[in-house]
Amino acid sequence: MTRERLRIALQKSGRLAEESLALLRSAGFTVTKGANELFYRIDNAPIDVLRVRDDDIPTLVADGVADLGIVGLNVLEERESSARNPKEVMRLGFGRCALKIAAPEKVAYEGPYSLDGVRIATSYPHILERFLDKHGVKAEIVTMTGSVEVAPRLGLAQVICDLVSTGATLEANGLRAVEPVLESEAVLIRGPKPPQHDLAATAERFIARVRGVTASRGAKYVMMNAPRAALPQIRAILPGAGAPTVTPLAGDEDAVAVHAVCQESVFWETLEQLKAAGARHLGAQYREDDVMQRLVWSELSEAARTEALARPLKRRETAVADVVRTIFDDVEREGEAAVARWALKLDQRAPEALTLSGAAVDAARAKLAGDDLEALDTAIANVAAFHTATLPQDSEIETAPGVRCKRVWRPIASCGLYIPAGTAPLFSTLIMLAEPARAQRACRSASSPRRRVTHRTR
Ligand code: ATP
Ligand code: ZN
Repeated sequence: MTRERLRIALQKSGRLAEESLALLRSAGFTVTKGANELFYRIDNAPIDVLRVRDDDIPTLVADGVADLGIVGLNVLEERESSARNPKEVMRLGFGRCALKIAAPEKVAYEGPYSLDGVRIATSYPHILERFLDKHGVKAEIVTMTGSVEVAPRLGLAQVICDLVSTGATLEANGLRAVEPVLESEAVLIRGPKPPQHDLAATAERFIARVRGVTASRGAKYVMMNAPRAALPQIRAILPGAGAPTVTPLAGDEDAVAVHAVCQESVFWETLEQLKAAGARHLGAQYREDDVMQRLVWSELSEAARTEALARPLKRRETAVADVVRTIFDDVEREGEAAVARWALKLDQRAPEALTLSGAAVDAARAKLAGDDLEALDTAIANVAAFHTATLPQDSEIETAPGVRCKRVWRPIASCGLYIPAGTAPLFSTLIMLAEPARAQRACRSASSPRRRVTHRTR
């Protein structure tokens, strides 16, 4: 059967649906609804979007009903291996989750061998079987199609192997993840045979455009000054960077400025290696397209709107939460020394003192242009007014003659705020955190000086 338009199969609704469409849009394709629910149309390219259940996507692509598809790696890997299976074209960087072994709190786990002779419930029997084989473990696999997390409570299995992203479902069922089996994310797949001749070029163009979008997504812009002699070493350290831009530094024969876009994440360790190689004035920032995503409100479903408005913490939870927890623990243990150390690590500089004198604050204010200062002061005044007005009020009631019940609000004695700074201090974060804290303090001591302090974080 010959077709005039390329077909790409996407999940119709579910965890990958919105981001799959969003990826097509950021690759410049205009997707419009078709005559029926099964198809969407791309107006500016001869491509149709086939909207189906994710489980059917590999089969549709394997059989050539669709030429390309987007599906979770977990779904792809769960197919029994065969030459007719679809091929992975590239990872897409969303829909991240992990297939993990999870066990009730009381079950001891010391490694895969602990699974010997154990019953494991899962919806991914093939992936699990390969995992067990790899570790030479014999266990009994119980296949379930859903609600795997209830299997231990039902006595159906001792442990489970299931998809996890936040761990909340596990926790709610008294389970803890003990072993990763597969890290998954959405992948672009293509059939084992190339599409018919005239559609092959469309497929290649599509893939190239999607590659362009995903390549720039995780990219970071890294800049530094470095001794000329350190350049080969720096090139080797920068992960996945194309040729960096090297410019001479005026007035310094031996030093150069290096700017590079790194395709992989630049971790703090990388920056530290660069420093060790002689790099100075190091900075790294996410590329704009990583931080800013253009969303068209009228085109977003209810779910996508909720997702768009969700705090980033919800979306990037684990990595951020882990780092933050470490910082909290360090500060609790070591106090201000830990604050200085973390500031040095994250911002590349630590304040000389953690307490600013009034004179230092005045000097800082004097450096700001009138407009900037006025904007900051206005923002501070507005936020302060709101938080002062909305301070919780004590209440008291006489429930029976002589029985007085009272609810009293007491501010916490002190608090610490962390304001991310790095190359761009987030004034709004400072204001939104510090002003409510100061409003609280005002209710404790009405006479505390209400001086405007723009830069004091404690
Ligand atoms: P369908 O109706 O299309 O069959 P589904 O219920 O099988 O949908 P979803 O729950 O929408 O599938 O998940 C689709 C894919 O999203 C999963 O196969 C997985 O790759 C990915 N995913 C990301 N996070 C999670 C998570 N926390 N739990 C399950 N899947 C996740
Ligand atoms: Zn499914």
